[in-house]
Amino acid sequence: MAKLPTRFETAVRAARAHLVRLEGWLSAYRLPLSMVAFNVTGAASLVWLCGWRGVSATDLVVFGTMYLLGVIGLEIGMHRYFSHRAFEVTPALRNALVILGSMGGQGSALVWATNHRKHHRFADQDGDPHSPRPRGEGRIGVLRGLVHGHFTWHFAEATSMGMRDLHRYGRDLVSDRDLMRVDRYFWRWVALGMVVPAIAGLAVTRTLDGAFTAFLWGGPVRVFAVDNAIWMINSVAHSCGPAPFDARDRSRNVWWLVVPLLGGGWHNTHHAFPGSARMALLPGQIDPGFWIIRALECLGQAHSLRVAQPRGDSSPPAPD
Ligand SMILES: [Zn+2]
Ligand SMILES: [Zn+2]
Repeated sequence: MAKLPTRFETAVRAARAHLVRLEGWLSAYRLPLSMVAFNVTGAASLVWLCGWRGVSATDLVVFGTMYLLGVIGLEIGMHRYFSHRAFEVTPALRNALVILGSMGGQGSALVWATNHRKHHRFADQDGDPHSPRPRGEGRIGVLRGLVHGHFTWHFAEATSMGMRDLHRYGRDLVSDRDLMRVDRYFWRWVALGMVVPAIAGLAVTRTLDGAFTAFLWGGPVRVFAVDNAIWMINSVAHSCGPAPFDARDRSRNVWWLVVPLLGGGWHNTHHAFPGSARMALLPGQIDPGFWIIRALECLGQAHSLRVAQPRGDSSPPAPD
């Protein structure tokens, strides 16, 4: 006759099952959990550095350089190139864009572009991974929508990509072996984004203290700044501001995000002409990201730029 498990054995089995479930959850949410860790560390470091530690010129230069490279990687690389194919690049530049874009810790080129293409496909409708539409009644519902669009969408079930999403929105990326060879090392590129500022600080100051503060400024603080600027496109630029084009969604142009995001603030224009390498299409608007793409073209690193005309869209529709 089989022996019944004791209360202790039952408790051990339940604890084991709980750990297995927790392990599965942690692995499924590894990316958003790492974003929380980087952003909380970045915000806390910023308060400590500005409030108590003080800021050196080296720290500011390291932060500014890493911020610029990070936004180039995300706005020009992950967004205009990998998501929309608004221009073509040399293999060397493509690899550089994967590495710089990954340093923001927002996911590999495959993950980022697939989610973003899905966003354009369902913009502000059911199926959009990060629409900030109100989620409930009144001001609380509006706030909940904004928080979801800004960050908590990363934890939502709709964000976890299945084979169907990769098949529909990322087929060209998955089948690009050269791209996948670099893109698979996403976590190494994230780590590189932490190591490079520390080395730069050590090289300039020749002190461990200088290396440490440069690491904080160029690493977690830079990730906090870059990530939240990019996420404001999902929350703020789908909520308030003018919409000069009828994009059939809630996308808006937000002028004060234009400089921090190298032109990415013209988000309503972008939704109306998603395949355009240039986002500033109205008189008086600037697009630093497009200037950089033009400079890369002059250097022989980019070609076949697609530029939409406000009267008569030259861009193809968003991937279906
Ligand atoms: Zn959008
Ligand atoms: Zn886009």
